[in-house]
Amino acid sequence: MNIYEPGKILLGRLTKGKDLLKELTFVVEENNITVGVIKVIGAVSKARFGYYDQKNEEYLYKEMDRNLEIVSCIGNISLLDDKPMIHAHINLADVDGKTFGGHLAEGTVIYASEAYIQEVKGEKLIRSYDEPTGLSLW
Ligand code: ZN
Repeated sequence: MNIYEPGKILLGRLTKGKDLLKELTFVVEENNITVGVIKVIGAVSKARFGYYDQKNEEYLYKEMDRNLEIVSCIGNISLLDDKPMIHAHINLADVDGKTFGGHLAEGTVIYASEAYIQEVKGEKLIRSYDEPTGLSLW
């Protein structure tokens, strides 16, 4: 485990109609954050998230073309191929409170979004290919 010190904290809303993952990446890049943590609550007008099939070592994606609450979306920022990469998981609820979730993917569209982005200062955190899982891990 690396030890980090708190850096800047960004707190604000993300733009309605934009792609959640792309918008978070844009804000992170604009603020030169390469290591950090993310928390988001709000709502989406459609969602796309992944499930990692461990047997076949590939993501299976689910799309939900419906209005859903973001019950919780947490993630982190680290470097992949020298660029900031956001790895986030999202939990969403429908009108009955039924929840769905997984690995946040492009294709999730913001209806309303309040984001907390915390930079941490210290060692670069770099992702690289992990043979046992087939994933790009720290
Ligand atoms: Zn994931």
